[in-house]
Amino acid sequence: MVNGSWQNVAAATGLLGGDGRPAPTIFARMSALATQTGAINLGQGFPDTDGPSELLEAAVTAIRGGANQYPPVRGIPALRAAIAEHQRRHYGLDPDPDTEVLVTAGATEALTATIIALCSPGDEVIVLEPFYDSYAAAIELAGAVRRVVPLRWPEYRLDADLLAAAVTDRTRLILINTPHNPTGRVFDTDELAAVARIAQAADVLVVTDEVYEHLVFTPHRHVPLATLDGMADRTITISSAGKTFSVTGWKIGWLHARADLVDAVAAVKQFLTFVNGSPFQPAVASSLLMPDDRFASIAADLQARSELLTGGLTAAGFDVRPSDGTYFVIADAAPLGYSDGMALCLDLPGLVGVVAVPVQAFNDDPSRPSSLVRFASCKRPDVIAEAARRLAGLRRADRMASARPT
Ligand code: PMP
Ligand code: GLN
Repeated sequence: MVNGSWQNVAAATGLLGGDGRPAPTIFARMSALATQTGAINLGQGFPDTDGPSELLEAAVTAIRGGANQYPPVRGIPALRAAIAEHQRRHYGLDPDPDTEVLVTAGATEALTATIIALCSPGDEVIVLEPFYDSYAAAIELAGAVRRVVPLRWPEYRLDADLLAAAVTDRTRLILINTPHNPTGRVFDTDELAAVARIAQAADVLVVTDEVYEHLVFTPHRHVPLATLDGMADRTITISSAGKTFSVTGWKIGWLHARADLVDAVAAVKQFLTFVNGSPFQPAVASSLLMPDDRFASIAADLQARSELLTGGLTAAGFDVRPSDGTYFVIADAAPLGYSDGMALCLDLPGLVGVVAVPVQAFNDDPSRPSSLVRFASCKRPDVIAEAARRLAGLRRADRMASARPT
């Protein structure tokens, strides 16, 4: 019996290949295309420079110091304490490091273990579209059902009426990602207040994916949903070190929530990965305690690169929504004459030597064409400038194509 949940997961994420086997994620696929073609990779969201040198040195020191065996299943005490202290210092939240904090293998495991732990088959999870690919897979693995609330280009505001209308008596979780991948939105306090009101009225839990919490651009501000009145007890707050500290391969994530919810998630987590990243845990612990100005300079540096990318894409003829935060900028290729972002992304390396990710891959139905394309700004300024220079050639490529006899 080969038919099984992997096929459901593949289908749920739009990843079932033509041969019936699961295809790689859109991110892996686009990175492979960049490697094959030598194109500049503005697709998968990973930085092309290392994070703070003291973070890297701390991991080396931890390896040499013998932090190479299984850590405790909930994470080493120093990291749990640092996560609690980070939440207190930045947001005034006060999770108990012993009972209300759990270290995970990236935010991905935190999300998957939470959804599996808290959902029974048939329960509904509300997600905002476009959404990160692992959400659909985790919901499918749990036997739960996703209900989709669309965010609409170019404002991408959360429509409270649509969210309220998506709630049913089977709703178990509302999953909110802010700062949001791929749109670059940072939800404001009105939007978050609407989520809080709807969650409380329906008596449902909210899972927040805050992996880009420190990558927020002036004048925007990240507000964790758990800080809103009445929400600390019904929010599972998830984050990760990968994006903030430019170490996406380390996969050190975490969550905090009410102790009984953390117990439930820990029970699942211990049979997913059990533990991970022994030497990385103390390194992340010390970086989480960095002074505020270090976090501010990480955000300011990324903001400058995001603006550089936005300017370059605009000059190249795209219609661009400047991002409020995150590694990403969304651009509409329609003004350049492209209506199918997936087709464009497959052609882009050949046309101009750049790789990007089609936004339709984040849609509930990834086969629905869209002219929107996501570009990653977490690259060196010279790389972004060169990509923009190449993308400016799209107008020319387009003219050449349209000049061709049909
Ligand atoms: N959530 C979002 C919105 C993401 O963009 C990513 C990608 N890093 C993740 C979760 C996964 O994070 P991690 O690498 O820590 O598992
Ligand atoms: N979060 C990264 C992105 O959105 C991708 C991570 C992955 O490849 N799964 O680009």
